[in-house]
Amino acid sequence: MKRREVLGFIGGAGVGWSALPVAARAASSAGGFAVQRVVIVGGAWAGLSAARELRLRAPELDVLVIDRDPVLRSLPLSNPWLVGRTPERMPRLNRAALAAGLGYRFVASDVQRIDPAQRQVYTTQGVFDYDWLLVSTGLTYDYSDWFGTDQQTVKAAQELFPAGNVAGELDALKQRLQGFKGGNLVINVPAPPSRCPPAPYERAMLLAWWLKTQGIKGKVTVLDAGGGLPRFTRLFAERYPGFIDFHPYTAIRSVDPFARRITTDDGDVAFEHAMLLPPMRASTLVEQAGLCGLDPQGRAVPWAAVDHLHLRSLANERVFLAGDLLGTVSPLFGHYPKTAHMATRLGLCAARQIAARSRGASAEPPVDLPASVCHVWLDADPAEQLRIETTYRLRGDGVIAQAVSQHDNPQPRGEDLQWGLGLYAHALGASLER
Ligand SMILES: Cc1cc2nc3c(=O)[nH]c(=O)nc-3n(C[C@H](O)[C@H](O)[C@H](O)COP(=O)(O)OP(=O)(O)OC[C@H]3O[C@@H](n4cnc5c(N)ncnc54)[C@H](O)[C@@H]3O)c2cc1C
Repeated sequence: MKRREVLGFIGGAGVGWSALPVAARAASSAGGFAVQRVVIVGGAWAGLSAARELRLRAPELDVLVIDRDPVLRSLPLSNPWLVGRTPERMPRLNRAALAAGLGYRFVASDVQRIDPAQRQVYTTQGVFDYDWLLVSTGLTYDYSDWFGTDQQTVKAAQELFPAGNVAGELDALKQRLQGFKGGNLVINVPAPPSRCPPAPYERAMLLAWWLKTQGIKGKVTVLDAGGGLPRFTRLFAERYPGFIDFHPYTAIRSVDPFARRITTDDGDVAFEHAMLLPPMRASTLVEQAGLCGLDPQGRAVPWAAVDHLHLRSLANERVFLAGDLLGTVSPLFGHYPKTAHMATRLGLCAARQIAARSRGASAEPPVDLPASVCHVWLDADPAEQLRIETTYRLRGDGVIAQAVSQHDNPQPRGEDLQWGLGLYAHALGASLER
């Protein structure tokens, strides 16, 4: 695979279908039947895999993907790149080129509002009607516990100390790290559910390796709201003594980004630099559209509520949801792991449901359960990795059960990159240059 640093070199495998112009959609028809419109809001792992599956499974549908960012950037495999351990290994995808190659439409626009009753999506580029809607807008940070309604401090914290847990922050985070001259570098692990649970531990270890190999006088302080992942915390002590200071059960209560001071349950922590990861919640559109759920006590939760087998919204039967924004799907394990692999599989499941229902399936379409694989660095040099596999089965009582297995990879030979490129090719339909 030739490495290309340029944007947008990847398109899709063409399927010979030309997109309908936006203005003509409402009046369009094919063979006497109105063409049904599917709008996908959020074109990343979940949304793009759903778009591709819809083209393959239901080519008669008019599929439109809307995302505010014209380029898809991968969070998977970004941690070793942040510290210069590897180049940026996952190519950036040009969404419009991918859409053109696969035969669906793409609009780069910020979605401001969804009206499920009128079946309309309001964007900075106009209003789009739909027959079926997939919302796959991922998650967002929730700073309210730390800063209340003080948006100025939220903005300062995000700009000065980005966490790099959304793709748009990666370059700024790398730039901040390159300016780090030493002292206390704080990272934190928020209370679950959060995105890619092993990622902060992998990052702590890679940061410690970076301090050590660059000869930077400093340490990584890890403030963990929970008890930590034992595979990592053991390695912290064995391989990076003096470089990682691990604090389990130490949630952040507030932050002063101007004075560089964090208040925790266990006292105050001063820092020279920090990657501040606040609690997470489904993207704000989900709440705006009335698609969030309730807990068993009837209180609102900030995650999307779906029929756990079909990914259909509990609030509106024309709306499906997939990816990191999902709430609890099982009383046995709660949320699906919030990973890219899982998001692609959920996108696929939702697309199959939409395809079947758009053809008027009278019975419930068959249930597809997702799965996830995650490759994590356990050590930087020599490289050591761990593959975490998660699978699901439907129990007799209709509850989803989860099984997790871990596989050591003491001599990795690019299995993580093969996995990532495989997802691009097989789930998103990107044809990769060789
Ligand atoms: C450091 C790190 C490492 C990771 N490593 C791995 C890994 O190795 N393996 C793995 O499987 N997962 C990994 N993940 C997790 C993975 O990145 C996420 O689970 C995945 O991105 C979720 O995909 P999604 O499609 O649900 O949402 P997102 O990727 O969050 O995409 C949501 C999309 O919606 C768009 N959007 C949101 N709101 C709007 C709006 N109002 N208008 C228009 N567009 C909007 C956004 O621009 C975005 O493109 C990692 C995460 C991190 C932070």
